[in-house]
Amino acid sequence: MGILLEGKPVVESLREDLKERIDTLKGQSINPTLLILRVGDREDDISYEKGILKNCERIGLSCRREVLPADITTAELIKTIEHANRDAAMHGIMLFRPLPNHLDEELICRTISPGKDIDCMNPANLEKVFEGASGAFAPCTPEAVMAMLDYYKIPLEGASVAVVGRSTVVGKPLAMLLLNKNATVTVCHSKTKDLPKVTAAADIVIAAVGRARFMDENFFSSESIVIDVGINNGGDGKICGDVDFDKAIEKVKAINPAVGGVGLITATILLGHTVTSCENQGEYWTREVG
Ligand code: NAP
Repeated sequence: MGILLEGKPVVESLREDLKERIDTLKGQSINPTLLILRVGDREDDISYEKGILKNCERIGLSCRREVLPADITTAELIKTIEHANRDAAMHGIMLFRPLPNHLDEELICRTISPGKDIDCMNPANLEKVFEGASGAFAPCTPEAVMAMLDYYKIPLEGASVAVVGRSTVVGKPLAMLLLNKNATVTVCHSKTKDLPKVTAAADIVIAAVGRARFMDENFFSSESIVIDVGINNGGDGKICGDVDFDKAIEKVKAINPAVGGVGLITATILLGHTVTSCENQGEYWTREVG
């Protein structure tokens, strides 16, 4: 039976660190603040927003929310973002997506100052992740995976890691973050030949496929450490991962649950980026914004 890698202790540890850093900033009369920009009243966005507000409260991070009309124009939204870029009291900018269809989402995301772009919406941040540069905010889900590996002290240097999935939000940036830690990374996808053979040979397997219970025990060895990023509708009214958890846990060395796993950590990473942006204030993004 494999060891269960739960997200909760990872989150608690991250929160403790963030609380201390926020207290230090407040001690210097600096109030780290997240700005949420919500366009319209989509139910998904409102529920995500509630979660973020609750998490901010838990760690003492200030949060300001601006609700913009659903029929806002691209030019008006860009103006709002540019104002936030210049506002020294706002340290992280969070914009819910997808934006309404009439808006030029790509142009809008490029407007967010990279130093305040806590959700990696501006491709400039992604470019930096791919360059292996420090100081960029990577997408939150790959960073959540890295936080989980770090918390459970899973060695990466020299380890072979199979990342299953090559999306721009999860698989590819995660492969870069792992490379930066000197792992030997194999990125797998739908055209990979004999996927179970490739994954079973790896020390660590990251599942980011987007298919419910796609990877069963045949994809792993008894030494496999499995990180399941997947969040899928299991078809039985329950959420499930990309890994068939019940079958895999009987065989592997360690595995996380889909619920209470990586997803739980992601929101805290977002808040951590805001605190980092605040700590970097003046030095990083004034250079970017000019
Ligand atoms: P995505 O954009 O749909 O990408 C899926 C990837 O899986 C693609 O690269 C695809 O390969 C690959 N794939 C699909 N079928 C495959 C197969 N039969 N064999 C091997 N590879 C296959 O998904 P995503 O946005 O990266 O998300 C991946 C998973 O993470 C989803 O379950 C999603 O819900 C979850 N997720 C979780 C969080 C969180 O916070 N926990 C956040 C975001 C996403 P090709 O490139 O060849 O098509």
